[in-house]
Amino acid sequence: MYDVIIVGGGVAGAASARELSRYKVKACVLEKEEDVCCGTSKANSAIVHAGYDAATGSLMAKLNVRGNAMMEQLSKDLDFPFKRTGSFVICLSEEDMPGLQTLYDRGVANGVKDLQILNREEVLKMEPNIVDNVYAALYAPTAGIVCPFHLNIALAENAFENGVEFKFNTEVQNIRQTENGWRIETNQGAYETKYVVNAAGVYADKLHNMVSEKKIHITPRRGDYCLLDKTAGNHVSRTIFALPTKYGKGVLVTPTIHGNLLIGPTAIDVDDREGTNTTAEGLEQVIGKAGQNVKNLPLRQVITSFAGLRAHEDGHEFLIGELEDAKGFIDCAGIESPGLTSCPAIGEMVAGILKDKMGLELKEDFKATRKGILDPDTLTKEERAELIRREPAYGNIICRCEMITEGEIIDAIRRPLGAKSLDGVKRRTRAGMGRCQSGFCSPRTMEILARELGVSVADITKTGGDSKLVVGINKDTL
Ligand SMILES: Cc1cc2nc3c(=O)[nH]c(=O)nc-3n(C[C@H](O)[C@H](O)[C@H](O)COP(=O)(O)OP(=O)(O)OC[C@H]3O[C@@H](n4cnc5c(N)ncnc54)[C@H](O)[C@@H]3O)c2cc1C
Repeated sequence: MYDVIIVGGGVAGAASARELSRYKVKACVLEKEEDVCCGTSKANSAIVHAGYDAATGSLMAKLNVRGNAMMEQLSKDLDFPFKRTGSFVICLSEEDMPGLQTLYDRGVANGVKDLQILNREEVLKMEPNIVDNVYAALYAPTAGIVCPFHLNIALAENAFENGVEFKFNTEVQNIRQTENGWRIETNQGAYETKYVVNAAGVYADKLHNMVSEKKIHITPRRGDYCLLDKTAGNHVSRTIFALPTKYGKGVLVTPTIHGNLLIGPTAIDVDDREGTNTTAEGLEQVIGKAGQNVKNLPLRQVITSFAGLRAHEDGHEFLIGELEDAKGFIDCAGIESPGLTSCPAIGEMVAGILKDKMGLELKEDFKATRKGILDPDTLTKEERAELIRREPAYGNIICRCEMITEGEIIDAIRRPLGAKSLDGVKRRTRAGMGRCQSGFCSPRTMEILARELGVSVADITKTGGDSKLVVGINKDTL
C-alpha cells in the first residue's frame, strides 16, 4: 500500500514527486515508457516564459510567474542548464501596437518584472537579425531557456534519491476506488494507494474520466519544429516570438541552451495521442512563418525536425486539485504551455495539497541538491588531463559532433534511474544530438550500453519496447 502514486514521469509528475519527497511518505511514480521524459516534456520549445501570456488571475499565470522565479535556484540545486536570456515579442506595424500593449499590461498585472516596450532602433541594436520592418517589441528580460531533458531527469533523480520509487514500462489501465483509497490496475499488475496524482500529460483526461462524472477533454495539439546546427546558434541571442493568436504563441526563433537554433512550433490538432510525426506541410509552415520576424535564417543548416503534443484541455487552464466527486484523486491535467516553466510551482502545489490532506511531516534527511553528469568541457586542461589519467574512459570520444566521452555515457547509464536505451543516453549526455544525428556514434553507444547492462547489442533499443535497432549479429549465423 502506497501513500501516493503519481501517474506520469514528465516534468509535472517528476516535480510533484521531488517536492513530495521532502516529506515522510511512501510514494511511487508509474510511467508507461521505459524512462522519464518520454512524453511532451521531451519535445517543446524549452522556453522559461516570463508570464505575460496567460489570463490574469488564472492558475496558468500564477504558476508561470512562480515557476519562472523558482527556476534559477532549482537549476543550481539540481545542476541542470538554465539561462535568463530574455525574449522579444515582435510587432510589425503601428496597427498591431494595441496587441503588444495588451501583453505588456497583462504581464504587469501578472507580476512579471522589468517588462519594456522597445522601439525599432532599440530592437535592431539588440537583435540585428530582426526584420527591417519591425515597428516595436515587448522585451521580457526574465524569460529564459532551459534543457527540458535535464530538468525532467534532475527532478526525477532527486526524487528517487529521496526515496520515491519509479516503475517503468507500467501503463495504468484502470483506476477504482476502494475502502482504503484506490486500486490502480496496470499492465504489470495492480497497486494499492491512498492518493493518486494524475500527471499523465495528453492522457490525463482518460484517467480523470475513469473516476469522475465531471468529464474533461484533452485535444493533442501538435507542434512541429526544425532544429538548426550550432553554426546558426548565434543568429539571435534571445527568444523571438510573434504576436500571439488564439492558437497560442505562434512560431518562434530561439537559441537553445546547448547553442543550436530552434524554429517552430506549429499548432495542429490531431487525434493520435502518440502522433509526434512531423509533416511536410507542418514544416513548411514553420519555415514560412519563422522568416516573418527574423531575416536571413540559415535554413540550410537544419539538422533535424521533430514534433511534440500539447495537452490542450477545452478550458485552456491548468486543472490542479482534488476532484470533488473522487476524494483522494488529484488532477494535474491540461498542463500545456507554460507547463515546463511552471513545473517547479506545479510540484510545490501538488505536494502542498497532499501535505495538507495527509498531515505530512518534513524529513530531516531530505537531500535538496544533486550533481549532474560531469561535463569535461567545464574543466581546465590540467583537470581534464588528471581526470583522463584517473578514468581513461573520459579520454575516449564517442560522439564526435557533441564531443561526448565514454566516461559521460557510462555515468549516464550507472547513475540513479540511469539510461537503458540509445535515446536515454542521448537525453542525458547529448551523444547523438549533433550535426550527424547519431550516424557515427549509435553503434558505439550501443556497445557501451550492452556491456554496462550485461545484454547483447541486439537487445538494445532506441527507446524501449519494440524499438530494437539490430535484428541479429551477422557472425552468429556463420
Ligand atoms: C510544441 C510545444 C511547445 C511547448 N513549449 C513550451 C515552452 O517553451 N515552455 C513551457 O513552459 N512549456 C512548453 N510546452 C509545454 C510543456 O512541454 C508541457 O506543459 C509539459 O512538458 C507537460 O508535462 P507533463 O508532465 O504534464 O506531461 P508529459 O511530459 O507528457 O508526461 C506525462 C507522462 O505520463 C505518461 N503516461 C501517460 N499515460 C500513462 C498511463 N496510462 N500510465 C502510465 N504513464 C502514463 C507518459 O508516458 C508521459 O511520460 C510546450 C509543449 C509543446 C507540445
